[in-house]
Amino acid sequence: MITCKSKKVLISGASIAGPTLAFWLAKYGFSVTIVERSASLRLGGQNIDVNGPAQKIAQKMGIEASIRAANTGEVGLQFIGQDNQVTAAFPKEGPVSGTQELEILRGDLVNILYDCTKHDVIYRFGDSINALEQQADHVSVTFSSGKTDTFQFVVAADGVRSSTRRLVFGEEPVFKYLGLYTAYLTIPREQTDNNWWRWYTAVDRRIIMLRPDNQGTMRASVAFLESDEAYEKLSPIEQKLVLKGKLAGAGWEANRIIDALDSSPDVYFDKIGQIKAPRWSDGRVAMIGDAAYCPTPLTGKGTTLAMVGAYLLAGELASHEHYQDAFIAYENRMRPYVEAVQQLPPGVPWLVYPKTKLGVSTLNTVAGIFASKLIQKLVGLFTPTKSKDESKGDEITLPDYA
Ligand SMILES: Cc1cc2nc3c(=O)[nH]c(=O)nc-3n(C[C@H](O)[C@H](O)[C@H](O)COP(=O)(O)OP(=O)(O)OC[C@H]3O[C@@H](n4cnc5c(N)ncnc54)[C@H](O)[C@@H]3O)c2cc1C
Repeated sequence: MITCKSKKVLISGASIAGPTLAFWLAKYGFSVTIVERSASLRLGGQNIDVNGPAQKIAQKMGIEASIRAANTGEVGLQFIGQDNQVTAAFPKEGPVSGTQELEILRGDLVNILYDCTKHDVIYRFGDSINALEQQADHVSVTFSSGKTDTFQFVVAADGVRSSTRRLVFGEEPVFKYLGLYTAYLTIPREQTDNNWWRWYTAVDRRIIMLRPDNQGTMRASVAFLESDEAYEKLSPIEQKLVLKGKLAGAGWEANRIIDALDSSPDVYFDKIGQIKAPRWSDGRVAMIGDAAYCPTPLTGKGTTLAMVGAYLLAGELASHEHYQDAFIAYENRMRPYVEAVQQLPPGVPWLVYPKTKLGVSTLNTVAGIFASKLIQKLVGLFTPTKSKDESKGDEITLPDYA
């Protein structure tokens, strides 16, 4: 471990990747500032998983118990048919389930990470990096507030649309659109709701999901295939109109979501795509999390990559005298893992978005076969009991840097 006492690091983005990096850098003795564009933490979003290597990092950070305590209470995944009947069920404790051991609302995890860093890290809310200039031994930063400062390193952890990435790497990283739009929103819980993650496929390539949370509300999501990327320039009101149009006639709980759209506090609507960047550092600036390698929610690994990348970058910076060596070591360890995660199975997402009624019923039938007791039993024979999360922890080696 080298001495890091005099080294100032600026991180852009206070979500998952940024505070995780800040935790480890502060622990190693760096002086850390996080700049977050929003006036406060952004706590929106749905259920996310902290599993495999992310769970191991949470253990090392001493926050696993807090994550467990904030569990959403989701009991498993059900596929729902046209008449609201359950066509397939994958309980949480089964060998195949979308619901993980540590299932938490994104906002709860953001809060936990903030709480365990706020005393050792300077947070600057409502500000962002406007310009940065790399010098031989530091980076000069001008903030949108007009303030200026210098840092030894700057790290972009400001998400899939990272403006820090654009400032440093220009058009070099590519956003690979996957032909899919998703909307997330919180809606009131009703008596007919339960604690299953319910997945409903509608004709014309639309999916609606409802998931329980630990706050007495429900998390709804709507996804649809769309070859055109035109919606991102729309205002929030226009986006809601698009969503209402897409939900019209979809059946199941579509009308309930249409009714809730105008009053929901946190409608999030975006196109889905992966970030492909040929390098994750330039001089004294590096990238982590969605800013560097967004895998999309389709992989269920956005949080995992963010936490793993943060842990590795901090550890390598603390282990190398020269930052260039640290950036190279971080990328060498992380890139094969990112490439494996970003590799989507053939046919995803198109295969699970059928156009016709026949396609929808075929999908539900196939799901039913996979959920059948016989198939679950067979899968169970090849899956170590309940160590499915632990075994995933071996996806990437996490060195002990301390
Ligand atoms: C509001 C919100 C809701 C989300 N909901 C879901 C969800 O339901 N399901 C899911 O799988 N993933 C969701 N995500 C994405 C998920 O958080 C990430 O895929 C993953 O956790 C990696 O996190 P990250 O820290 O790299 O980036 P992100 O979580 O995207 O966080 C980026 C942070 O940077 C801040 N920021 C952006 N631009 C700037 C700037 N110029 N200067 C300073 N700060 C900036 C943002 O406000 C945000 O706090 C959501 C992200 C956000 C921001």
